[in-house]
Amino acid sequence: MANLFSGLEKLGFGNLNDVQLFEESAEKKADGSAQKQEEVHKVSESDMLFDKSYTCPVCNNEFKTKAVRAGRTKLDHMDSDLRPVYTPGDTTKYSAIVCPKCGYAALDKYYNTISVRQERAVKDNITPKFQGLKETGDFYTYDDAIERFQLVLLTTIVKGARNSEKAYVCLKLAWLVRGKREELDPKAPDFEAKRKELAIEEYQYLENAYEGFSKAMSSENFPIAGMDENTLSLVLGATAANLGKKDEASRWLTSVITSRIAKENIKDRARNIRDEILGKTPQA
Ligand SMILES: [Zn+2]
Repeated sequence: MANLFSGLEKLGFGNLNDVQLFEESAEKKADGSAQKQEEVHKVSESDMLFDKSYTCPVCNNEFKTKAVRAGRTKLDHMDSDLRPVYTPGDTTKYSAIVCPKCGYAALDKYYNTISVRQERAVKDNITPKFQGLKETGDFYTYDDAIERFQLVLLTTIVKGARNSEKAYVCLKLAWLVRGKREELDPKAPDFEAKRKELAIEEYQYLENAYEGFSKAMSSENFPIAGMDENTLSLVLGATAANLGKKDEASRWLTSVITSRIAKENIKDRARNIRDEILGKTPQA
């Protein structure tokens, strides 16, 4: 599990090796640590951002953080697991909100939803260790964003969040690592090594997303992380495919394709993924 939080030592959180994300989760460890890498500078990413004000529900600190301005981005395409790829910059980077004073971190959609018990857990377990965030430039590098999302993931464990919330954070972390990998310079001498290292990191986050969403599917009510049943089945199918679990992928995707209520565009996506991973198969 250590690798899910590699880099957080710098912010005061050492010793995260024993942290378990999901109950009864199989032990997953791999070596390979996130390393600093030079980010490709995107001139226009900062143009899509503004400073949004938040009040921390844990410590009442008022702070500003970078957020995406409406109407300044354009959806280029979506990956099979519904990762949206926007221009001019990756909007996923900006959905993790971290209070710079107490270290409370959550996805923007969950930020104000915290119980008294969870507040206490953050004050007891996060705040005493939190050493503040690093300064950023006028937009977040992938490393800036991954650091924030790792804090969000750690907070989901501390506050005992539902499986779907943990899984959603892991899925977004996988997307960020993918984005970082896509930005690597193929001409750099360490390109292959970096590409491989990031592929392993992405795989680990996807494994955890898959496990958490699978558990949520049988224990939570829809919408789950904002998704209806067919959308989540598509994400599970695509993620299983990305993990090389062909049978499980096929099962999730078939449930979408044969659904009476799934929208046609979701069914098309499911068919495309299934055709791609399984080869052309007879119609279900
Ligand atoms: Zn705070």
